[in-house]
Amino acid sequence: MRSGDAPAAAPLHTGLLQDKVLNRQVDTLYGNHRSSTLADVALAWTLCGLFYWRLGDPMVLAWGVVHLLQTLRYPRLAAYHRDPWAAQRARFWAGRHWRHLAVYSACWGLAPWFFLPAHDLPMTAVLMLVMLSLSSAGVPAMAPRLASLAAFVLPMVTGLIGALLWRGAAVHLFLAAFCLPYLAATLYFGWRQHQLLTQALVTGFEREALAERLAQQIVATQQASEQKTRFFAAASHDLRQPMQAIALLGAALETRLAGQAAGDEARQLNRAVRALSASLDVMLDVSRLEAGVIVPQRRPFELDDMLRALNAMFGSAAQQRAIELRIRASGLWVHSDAQLLQRLLANLVDNAIKYTSRGGVLVAARRRGAQVRIEVIDTGIGVAPEHLPRIFDEFYQVDNPGRDRAHGLGIGLAFVKHLSRLLDHPVQVSSRPGRGSRFRVTVPWTPAGYSVAGIDEPASVHVGVHVGALSARVLLLDDEQAIADAARAFFAAGGLRLDVVGDPADARVALDAAQLGGQPYRLLISDLRLAGGGDGLQAAQALLEGRNPQPALLLLTGETAPAQLRRVRDAGVRVLFKPVEPGALLRAVRAALDAQSTTATGVPIP
Ligand code: ADP
Repeated sequence: MRSGDAPAAAPLHTGLLQDKVLNRQVDTLYGNHRSSTLADVALAWTLCGLFYWRLGDPMVLAWGVVHLLQTLRYPRLAAYHRDPWAAQRARFWAGRHWRHLAVYSACWGLAPWFFLPAHDLPMTAVLMLVMLSLSSAGVPAMAPRLASLAAFVLPMVTGLIGALLWRGAAVHLFLAAFCLPYLAATLYFGWRQHQLLTQALVTGFEREALAERLAQQIVATQQASEQKTRFFAAASHDLRQPMQAIALLGAALETRLAGQAAGDEARQLNRAVRALSASLDVMLDVSRLEAGVIVPQRRPFELDDMLRALNAMFGSAAQQRAIELRIRASGLWVHSDAQLLQRLLANLVDNAIKYTSRGGVLVAARRRGAQVRIEVIDTGIGVAPEHLPRIFDEFYQVDNPGRDRAHGLGIGLAFVKHLSRLLDHPVQVSSRPGRGSRFRVTVPWTPAGYSVAGIDEPASVHVGVHVGALSARVLLLDDEQAIADAARAFFAAGGLRLDVVGDPADARVALDAAQLGGQPYRLLISDLRLAGGGDGLQAAQALLEGRNPQPALLLLTGETAPAQLRRVRDAGVRVLFKPVEPGALLRAVRAALDAQSTTATGVPIP
């Protein structure tokens, strides 16, 4: 009764599982012991009464006493329920159980030896009936352990068979012969039941273990995702600082060199800077989506406006790759966030062009009931079925083991997935390798209405923006020397008066002095993370408090940690993410100054 306990079909895989099964088996055996002992004593003494009344044989009473004596062992079994280490000593308790049952069953097996009547066939039949019924009635309760089952059935029934054979009359031999197959059948059904029970226990524990592993994996995945977000935030912050300086210096250089021979190199340099900064922006976008900082602004708008913007954005890229970009007007209106939907579609069109070298890309929208299906179809390289389920994962790229930057970062479709969830616009993909791909975005349809502006025009590529009209004083609070120098050069090239301070104390001195001198600053630009981990938002708010006129506030940050972004959003302050494209910086400065002239409060994050 060791390894033989488990059915061959379901081997116990680990010692732990084996122990768990044993514990549960032993627990079940002891679970119904108390009530069955009481019932057994009642049965034994009813039988004694009946036989003593019919036979008047004192041996009946003698057996009754033997039976009573064996019940005195009961407390030894009941001790199981008080054993605090019962689970650890399951094997001991299993042994004690089957040994107890062997004694109990032998006691019943002695009954026919004590008082089987030689010539009273009806009473012989009654005794047989009682003993055989008892042996089979106990099978379900003993089935958890084969040793207990055998100890319960065998001594009782073999005792009965032996006594019948001992009597030796033909009728007794016949009855003994009847008992034998009965015994075999009882043991067989008990064994089958034991197999089923063990199998059920093993399956149950395996499921439990599986669910536990699954829960652990979910926690591990969440932790990995949080770590990734933290890593991103740190990496992108560290990259953004120098990027910002490069972008500003590049723009200043381009303005100064305009019209000279080196102007072309400066323009090329700035193009490369913009490409790099676009990659960082995608990372930042994902962080912002994960942080829940972006809240969709849904409204009805005409899809064709957006499609036209996409055409303008990607027309030249398609031309460069000598493929056709067809954008089919539909006249349909949809209900969505125009800017976010446009960014979602832009990612799909960008990919379609990138992965198509022959044929073309078609963007078309069709109405299906209350939905509009916008499809981006290309005749490009397609995606093999085994990769298809994973292309929306972050950093998953097909066939780019060297992570060639020219193939992208592998984050575009992850961004699409985030946007699709945020907007509740399902995105489906079908693709055939070598034939092309079809990405379908399903958007709620809305009846035609009045158009409201809100579609992004293609980003301006001209960075040498002159700010002649902007002559207001601006104070920059940033401890990064490289950024300070670059910003000074850039703003000076644009004709703007910019002073730079490295910490809040100097900023206060500068603000006070400017105010006393009658030329107060109109704008404070502050880095979000100051030297020594100081908080730029808090510092800037404290610096501006109570000033009249109150300068506008603009935060500049390389931070992408979701918690930080949420905090800034909640403060309702306008923020720009490093590296800020110089043109965008000037536009933001202009907007902040315009807002400052009408109201003293900041403008929320776009
Ligand atoms: P990437 O920056 O590499 O384009 P994405 O997340 O945008 O990253 O796409 C993930 C992968 O999905 C790509 O590396 C590419 O193999 C595949 N893919 C995406 N769009 C297309 C498409 N239109 N045709 C073929 N393959 C595509």
